[in-house]
Amino acid sequence: MEQFTIGIDVGGTKTAYGLLDGEKRIVRRLSHPSDSRCPPERFFDRIAAGIDELLAAGHIEKGSLRGVGIGMPSFILFEEGRIVKTSNLPLIRDFPARAYLREKLAGLRVILDNDAHTAAVAELRRGAGRGFENLLYCPVSTGIATGIIINGKIFRGRYGWAGESGHMIVTPDDGIECGCGNRGCLMSWCSGSMIIKHIKKWIEAGESSSITEFAGAQELNCNHLAMAYNAGDALARRAIAQMVTFLGIWTYNLYVTLNINCFVFGGGLLKLFHELTLNGKPGSLLDAMKEVFDRYNKNTMPVYFKEAELGDDFGIIGAAELLF
Ligand SMILES: [Zn+2]
Repeated sequence: MEQFTIGIDVGGTKTAYGLLDGEKRIVRRLSHPSDSRCPPERFFDRIAAGIDELLAAGHIEKGSLRGVGIGMPSFILFEEGRIVKTSNLPLIRDFPARAYLREKLAGLRVILDNDAHTAAVAELRRGAGRGFENLLYCPVSTGIATGIIINGKIFRGRYGWAGESGHMIVTPDDGIECGCGNRGCLMSWCSGSMIIKHIKKWIEAGESSSITEFAGAQELNCNHLAMAYNAGDALARRAIAQMVTFLGIWTYNLYVTLNINCFVFGGGLLKLFHELTLNGKPGSLLDAMKEVFDRYNKNTMPVYFKEAELGDDFGIIGAAELLF
C-alpha cells in the first residue's frame, strides 16, 4: 500500500502543509496564518484540524500515513517533542506538543524539530547539499542559525538545539539586547531585523541619512536600506559593512570549529544583497561573506559557499524527511 507523509512548516506568520506521496512528491497543499495570539492548545488544535482536512481532501486513511513531520522556529527538546520557546510566536512555549498531537491524532507518528534542522535535511537530500556527507545549512534572515549535518545526519546535541550559532556571544554585554536575553550575540549585529534597530539608533543619536526619506511614512525596513545604499548613503553603507563583517566572522568561526567545508545559505538577506549595486553589478551576500572569511582563513583547502536550491517548499520537504 502506498505510504503518504505530511510535512508541516510552521513560520512566524504562516503555517504551510504538504501531503507527499510514496515517491515524495507534494500532491496536496494547505496553508493558514499562524496566529501569534493563540495559546499552544488552540494552536495545535488548528494543526490537528489541518492534518484531518488534508487527509479528507485526499481521501486518505490515517492507516496509510507514515507520519507527520513538523518544522518550527523553536527550541525543541527533541526526544520528548516538547517546545521550550518559539521565535515570533511567544505564546508557543513550555508545551508538550508531540504528546498533545499524538493524543488528538489517535497515536499517529509525529516528529517535531527546529526549522533550521529540517531545512538542512531538505538541502542535504534534495537540494544544494546533495553528494556531501557534512554540511552547514545557514538561514540568514530576521534570525540567523545553523543546521549541522555530520555523516549524513542532523546533529542535534544533547537537548536538541545544536546550531543556535546566531546567539554565540561576540561582543560581551555590548550592543542591542537580543530575544535570547543577552547583549552582544552575533545576530544582534547583523540579522535583518537587528540591523534596522542599529540604523534607528544611529538616526536617533542625530546622524542623518537618506534612508528616512526612502522610508517616508512607512516603518523603516531592509528595502529602504537597499535604496539608500544604492544612492551612496554613508550610513546605509556602514550598516551593510557591519552585517558583512559579522556574517563573515560567523562563517569563519563555524569553519574553524567544525571543519565542515560546505555551507548552504538561504533566507531573506540573500535577496537583500541582490538588490544592492556593488561595482556596477547586483551584490552577492555569499561573495561578500567569503571575502571576510578568506581574510581570516589561512589555508587554501576548498570551502564551498552555496545558495539553497529548494524554493519555498524546503520547509515542507524537510519536515516530511524527518520521517525517513
Ligand atoms: Zn541572541
